[in-house]
Amino acid sequence: MSSSLVHESAAVADRRNGAQPDTSDADCPPAQPGPSTLSVHGGEARDKAFHSVTTPIVQTSTYTFRDTAALVEYMEEHMFWDEPQRDEYGRYGNPTVRAVEARLAALENGDDALLTPSGMSAITGTLLVFLSAGSHLVCTIDCYRRTRDFIQTILSRYGVEATVVPSADLQAIEDAIQPNTRLIFSESPTNPFMRCLDLEGLADIGRRRGIRTAIDSTFATPLNLRPLDYGIDLVIHSVTKYLAGHNDVMAGAVIGKNGLTAPLRQMHGILGSVIDPQTAYLVGRGLKTLGLRIERQNANGLAVAQYLENHPRVRRVWYPGLSSHPDHAIAAAQLRGFGGVVSFEIEGDGEQTGRFIDALRIPYIGPSLGGVESLVEQVQLVSYYDADPEKLDALGVSPSLVRLACGIEDAADIIADLEQALTMS
Ligand SMILES: *Cc1c(COP(=O)(O)O)cnc(C)c1O
Repeated sequence: MSSSLVHESAAVADRRNGAQPDTSDADCPPAQPGPSTLSVHGGEARDKAFHSVTTPIVQTSTYTFRDTAALVEYMEEHMFWDEPQRDEYGRYGNPTVRAVEARLAALENGDDALLTPSGMSAITGTLLVFLSAGSHLVCTIDCYRRTRDFIQTILSRYGVEATVVPSADLQAIEDAIQPNTRLIFSESPTNPFMRCLDLEGLADIGRRRGIRTAIDSTFATPLNLRPLDYGIDLVIHSVTKYLAGHNDVMAGAVIGKNGLTAPLRQMHGILGSVIDPQTAYLVGRGLKTLGLRIERQNANGLAVAQYLENHPRVRRVWYPGLSSHPDHAIAAAQLRGFGGVVSFEIEGDGEQTGRFIDALRIPYIGPSLGGVESLVEQVQLVSYYDADPEKLDALGVSPSLVRLACGIEDAADIIADLEQALTMS
């Protein structure tokens, strides 16, 4: 292996990048590189084109063959399911994209990752691959809103049935299983209340009942949680958030083991939702600092949550690192850090909440999370502007619910800003 961080995908990445295999195993790698090391080096070819330290952006739509014999050789490899040693056409693969995929696979401890142009494209692709007419799916009520929309308004048109169960409730999930259930889809931690699911328990249900399990782990990142290690089949990310981390690109990913990503890759080659190499490069660049960023965001989230919990104008805080959170026990057992997102309700009505948000000087008002800049939103206005009061009640979203997604600024500055805004408004 030419990489000192040996990973199956690294060998594939090396070959795809045209590196010569180095068979010496003189430099013995650490058995389990830490997450920050994997953020920088995981799955990456040691020798890159032109001796570049960075992975080059291979800006091409197609790949050429020297002669007919080379084309025939490629087709033979391809037909017999050998991992082809090169690319053929942009919709089926790109070396820059592959390098990022290998790093994501290493970070999640998976065999393979598929990088997609958005989180939603990773989610819709996964649901389309593992479900078909007549099959049934179980998901939780606090799934990302567009995921639920896709399940309830689009998949239903194609004869896929779904049961939506309450948050973080393994018993409800198991009770919803039918003979035709093919997939259990959930998130952990969830938005906006950061509910956490016992992933070991979920994987156990999946194994016992012969049903695949998929977890949207966007809020955790592989730095805080590795669902595959608990036996979950597929991990999904909105890479747009923490993984890319700079509020500047959209991307998604699905990571798995045991060949589960192969049908997804094929499906994406047909659906055509491919990420472009420039964007993939920015994702790969963002990933390099993931370890540092998440450490800071975990610390900021916890400090802000603790500050808010003790503030007289704050009614309630939802943060899995607080012992007041309903899922604190499972969060403490399974999460390495609790993330940068804090939801809280302040005293007063929706208008007062708006005044509080307007008085903040550091976070920008806007949807999304996970980037270096802190973002704040009045949850009802951003995510549920058109929802009726009954639905909001069912989801527990009140007009005074605020979601603060901490960036990487200094915790003391974010807290001072919250203090002045709570006093002013
Ligand atoms: C943002 C988000 C998505 C959607 O991802 P996009 O990159 O915006 O398409 C899915 N799941 C969760 C949990 C998210 O936060």
